[in-house]
Amino acid sequence: MMNGHTKLAGVIGWPVSHSRSPMLHNHWCRVHEVNGVYVPLPVAPGQLETALKGLAAAGFAGVNVTIPHKEEAFRLCDELTETARRAGAANTLRFVEGRILGDCTDGTGFCDNLQAHQVTLGGNALILGAGGAARAVAAALQERGCEVFIANRTRERAENLVQALGAGHVLAWEEWSDRLGEMNLLVNATSLGMGGRRDVPWEEMLCRGKEPLAVADIVYTPRQTPLLQAAQERGFKTVDGLGMLIYQARAGFHAWFGTLPEADEVSFDLLAKDLAI
Ligand code: NAP
Repeated sequence: MMNGHTKLAGVIGWPVSHSRSPMLHNHWCRVHEVNGVYVPLPVAPGQLETALKGLAAAGFAGVNVTIPHKEEAFRLCDELTETARRAGAANTLRFVEGRILGDCTDGTGFCDNLQAHQVTLGGNALILGAGGAARAVAAALQERGCEVFIANRTRERAENLVQALGAGHVLAWEEWSDRLGEMNLLVNATSLGMGGRRDVPWEEMLCRGKEPLAVADIVYTPRQTPLLQAAQERGFKTVDGLGMLIYQARAGFHAWFGTLPEADEVSFDLLAKDLAI
């Protein structure tokens, strides 16, 4: 039941109707008996600053920010966590005494999910991709002591990412599979495999991988992507992308509502069912 003490949060995007975050956060409000509500907030490009000021003035505790606003949100923050600074993006904002505090929880969510799957972080990590998600994943892995290798179709973006990280290595897109034998972790942070498309001959690309290689995909539609299927067939440990979605949401919930929620089975089932994956 909402009342004068109900804490408010939400997700800003354009469009935003596809976002599963309201379902997840409101589920957590129910199970943790938090007097809070989390709403979808459609905000058109160019309107982000006005929207943030209005929401802060209306007493919102904070918001998540998704496509296409993540980079502008980063610019509008008064303070940023070190993780957000390194990732160059902010997806979780808090409104505190007229200031906007920004964090980027995608990378932390990715790493927490790996650890929940008993993947030990460290050693060499090869990340495919250099877009927004890859930046967050690379920064988080580096913070946790991994030596980061980046391969991206557009090499220049991989070079820019390594430069922004201040460390790491660029591998040619056509040659990354030759170096797989040196890696402890392979991460697909591109949109390859979305919708189950078999755009890459993954079976072939994985043939140089060696135990104890772990393979993670951040694409979660489908949950079992063609990459994960090929990796499983080769006997490697695999981690799908749904957990990242759930784990990245926990920090925001904690910041706005004061409770660290469980990434419980019901959360996974709820999203998997709704996404039909
Ligand atoms: P983005 O910024 O648009 O980056 C897309 C990346 O995919 C770029 O590196 C791009 O390479 C690469 N790519 C696209 N098509 C390709 C192709 N045909 N061949 C090779 N590389 C290709 O997107 P993003 O925000 O980083 O998201 C990437 C994926 O992660 C999406 O599928 C998204 O749904 C997923 N994601 C999942 C979570 C989660 O919680 N599990 C969170 C965030 C994102 P170029 O630079 O060469 O274009």
